[in-house]
Amino acid sequence: MRIIVQKFGGTSVASPEARNCVIEKVKQAIKNGFIPVVVVSAMGRKGDNYATDTLICLARQACRNIAPRELDHIMYCGEIISAVVMTGFLQNAGIEAMMMTGGQAGVITDNNFMSARVIKVDPVKINRQLERGKVPVVCGFQGMTVDGEFTTLGRGGSDTTASLIGAALDAEIVEIYTDVEGIMTADPRIVENAKILDVISYSEVAQLAYQGAKVIHPRAVEIAAQKNIPLVIKSTFSDAPGTRIVDKGNEKSISDRVAMGVTHLANIAQIKVKVEPARTHKESSVIFRTLADESISIDLINVHPGHVMFTLAEDMADKALTKLQSLGYNAEVNHDCAKVSVVGGGICGVPGVMASLTEALSTYNIPIMQTVDSHTTISVLVKLSDVEDAVKALHQKFLLA
Ligand code: ASP
Ligand code: MG
Repeated sequence: MRIIVQKFGGTSVASPEARNCVIEKVKQAIKNGFIPVVVVSAMGRKGDNYATDTLICLARQACRNIAPRELDHIMYCGEIISAVVMTGFLQNAGIEAMMMTGGQAGVITDNNFMSARVIKVDPVKINRQLERGKVPVVCGFQGMTVDGEFTTLGRGGSDTTASLIGAALDAEIVEIYTDVEGIMTADPRIVENAKILDVISYSEVAQLAYQGAKVIHPRAVEIAAQKNIPLVIKSTFSDAPGTRIVDKGNEKSISDRVAMGVTHLANIAQIKVKVEPARTHKESSVIFRTLADESISIDLINVHPGHVMFTLAEDMADKALTKLQSLGYNAEVNHDCAKVSVVGGGICGVPGVMASLTEALSTYNIPIMQTVDSHTTISVLVKLSDVEDAVKALHQKFLLA
């Protein structure tokens, strides 16, 4: 069986016109010899009647502190409405279909409401529908505990559902349909000449997503990567081929390039703590334990004799600062920062990447507040007011050179 999972995001199922485009994509898959399994998100975006954000608002209007378990129930409704409507459209178009909740599709999770972890996927019911020649229309984002509680997988979790189902069914391919024609080298609102990428590796796209690009849920990428199932990000509304996400080893063009994208994350603050140089190791362990006990997650971590530096979410900065100062630390905060990252599977071991990066930023006169790198990413911390120029400068240097 050549299974294809086709996941359609909120804008792809929001209107009758959009849903007709979905029908065309499903028909095309069948024509190409695939057996499709459809996964849907809730319809539309914030403000639309049945969108996830709208449903959350409704519940929070009733009670500001409504419990995560109750929120999961109201959020469940979004995908259910979407799946029922989509199933109706498919049936009208002559395609036998049947909707399924996440629980019915066999997505079993723990009971960590609103960001449940998947324990296993048991696709018996999906398989039964496939044997009967029906197209399953699975509600994305949903799970169920072993004792029947409704859970959701965390915002943006429909992508994860698509990969989970793809992995459980040994799908040949998982398509993620959206309203853009693929993954771009930078945010086109900042960089006018940003380009759509034909192909990108699992690790590159996961980095892009973690570093702020809103392309696909990183969890979905990890799951597909484990089984080496290609993911394709493409538009519901055009015939453009989209961006293929595959294993690096399968594509020479991926290993040949140093960088493939520039992305950024805003709402970051930087904290610097001065310590006595000889006591840095002792003090840093107290500092990091203190932050951990306050459930504050940190990034861009530097420990140097005499100082400890890190970044954190802007809305955690004052809490962290107050706590450290109350312990007698000489700590200061830099608000309004952003992390700009150059991502590329070929960065590792290539001389001159840092030289190019600093040249590009110095041409635009952008001060670097901190840097960090990994085998696929180099990131710099800059002031928020410099972020657009930094993205443009690095895109120009690394992707258009
Ligand atoms: N509807 C859910 C959300 O808005 C899941 C998804 O769209 O992926 O987060
Ligand atoms: Mg999404």
